[in-house]
Amino acid sequence: MDNPLLDQAGLPAFSRIRPSHVEPAIRQLLAENRARVEDILAAAEPPRWDNLVMPLEALDHRLARAWAPVGHLNAVHNTEALRKAYNACLPLLSDYSSELGQHEGLFRAFERLLAEQGPHLQPGQRKILEDALREFRLAGVALAPEPRARFRAIMQELSTLGARFEENLLDATQAWRLHVTDEQRLEGLPEGVRERAAAAAKSRGLDGWTLTLDFPCYHAVMCHAADRELRHQMYEAWVTRASDHGPSAGKFDNGPVMADILRLREEAARLLGFANYAELSLETKMAASVDEVRAFLEDLARRSRGAAERELEAVREFAGQSLAAWDIAYWSERLREHEYQVSDEELRPYFPAGRVMSGLFDTVARLFGIRIVPGGQVETWDPQVEFFRIEDGDGRPIGYLYTDLYAREQKRGGAWMDECIGRARFGNEVSLPAAFLVCNFMPPVGERPGLLSHDDVVTLFHEFGHCLHHLLTKVEWPSAAGINGVAWDAVELPSQFLENFAWHPEVIERLSAHYETGAALPRELLDRLIASRNFQSAMQMLRQVEFALFDIRLHGREATDAAGIVEELDTVRRQVAVVPYPDFNRFAHSFSHIFGGGYAAGYYSYKWAEVLSADAFGAFEENGVLDPETGRRFRECILEVGGSVEPMDAFVAFRGRPPEPDALLRLAGIDREPAPAA
Ligand code: ZN
Repeated sequence: MDNPLLDQAGLPAFSRIRPSHVEPAIRQLLAENRARVEDILAAAEPPRWDNLVMPLEALDHRLARAWAPVGHLNAVHNTEALRKAYNACLPLLSDYSSELGQHEGLFRAFERLLAEQGPHLQPGQRKILEDALREFRLAGVALAPEPRARFRAIMQELSTLGARFEENLLDATQAWRLHVTDEQRLEGLPEGVRERAAAAAKSRGLDGWTLTLDFPCYHAVMCHAADRELRHQMYEAWVTRASDHGPSAGKFDNGPVMADILRLREEAARLLGFANYAELSLETKMAASVDEVRAFLEDLARRSRGAAERELEAVREFAGQSLAAWDIAYWSERLREHEYQVSDEELRPYFPAGRVMSGLFDTVARLFGIRIVPGGQVETWDPQVEFFRIEDGDGRPIGYLYTDLYAREQKRGGAWMDECIGRARFGNEVSLPAAFLVCNFMPPVGERPGLLSHDDVVTLFHEFGHCLHHLLTKVEWPSAAGINGVAWDAVELPSQFLENFAWHPEVIERLSAHYETGAALPRELLDRLIASRNFQSAMQMLRQVEFALFDIRLHGREATDAAGIVEELDTVRRQVAVVPYPDFNRFAHSFSHIFGGGYAAGYYSYKWAEVLSADAFGAFEENGVLDPETGRRFRECILEVGGSVEPMDAFVAFRGRPPEPDALLRLAGIDREPAPAA
């Protein structure tokens, strides 16, 4: 076979993959799949698991295996030619997937299979069918022709409106700049930020400095600029972007766009039989109802409020003045420096990458009864990439892991886990899972190894949690194996769960040693590090709850216009916030997560998953943080079941009860407030 993307006998042959292989392979697979889908459907009479579902799963699996190395290389070894090939395939893949998602014949066959065979199937198989049927219904497949056409038109319009929201925001962000000639106004700003501001001025043929609303510039001014008027000016520009207020009032106004989005979302929800869009959104999530989400958020707010008020008072006292909205970040930073004095630079020498990785591997090996060993010679995409084999306690291979830790050119920023191969069994043929773990840590220089900040360590643990979820699954139906088929307010459970270990003294000891002397991290530095974790945690909690509550309330009520949206946000702020908000604040107009991205009526998921992960970690705090028996149960109940079990059932199986927020409040150092009578 001369196209390596079509050769799926083993791990991807990275050295042989060329951009010219990409589009032909994908086109060939899509054409074959389209023909096969019709053949499978015709032959599935009557439809059974083995003649309908598994053959379709095999098609998906093959396509995913061919595409995985392409998407991966595009992110970690980007070239002009590869990007072109990758982009050429995106519309082909999305057409194919919406075609399948709208396929009425498939929908009817799945429906019939569940009705006729349901009682004879395993619970995980039934869940796969029920999830698939739900996806079909939410795509409008079950609607009569007329509402179905309207539904599709709405979806199209919504995607245009989402893009327009983002464009307005981007234009508004880029339209504003402030030219500064008096260096005194920049007092307190870090050197790097000044340099970029000077370069920005120079590129416009100006002397001095140009400040912009790029997030790093805005953020640095809010946290570090001593000039109060400068902070005020920038704050106002930032929080009025794309609105009817502030320096570019009305010019890029997202108000009408937001109103249209809400109206169309509501109409789409009603067509599908829901009372509002929030109900539709929750249909695929772990949380059961809008009321449950609201009660969950309001409870967190109530119990964090006292602590948040004390945190804010501490800032006020430290500043020795009353605080406007543009003063809080600045004085908070001064207070943080004063109280903790933990700098990344002080910590890095104690976290050399090799030590951190072996400490991480030891920790999870002990917890989950596995071994992570060098995987031998395989093809990779860069000499710095390492390859490992995950073995079970008895030495049997479970899966494979590629790690690509360091920043480099042609590599996308950030950190993530991605699937290389998913676990699957077709007849006697088993494919073991393989994962990509990608970070952007500071690379080794000369003799000096890569040195991680503690933030980096936490990031590494987070992504490794996703890896374990993918690799330790025992499910062999691809659409429910590992992270597949897991509700998205539950999918961050393993990752956020593992983060907690990176903050535990017993684990930090295993991860750290001075890269030159081998000395342990000094106790006093460790204590300061751990104490700094919860700086202003209650204020941060309220901020997230405010966004989430606004989101769920806005999508759980009748659609409203721009004024109504602002009013809804004000109502939530009066209920939840402790920090002051000026009247001109128009945060909603730049809330991309819910208007531009996919988080509508789902922003609460961040807090939801944190509660799950903190509560799961609570079991380890109770039984000993490295207790293998608790680890074995976590592996069995959560990591192995993937998407084959409802996440609430999986959680209850592990914890013996539904999740409670107490562990999160405790981990965040927020004292329990006496819960007032409802
Ligand atoms: Zn994550």
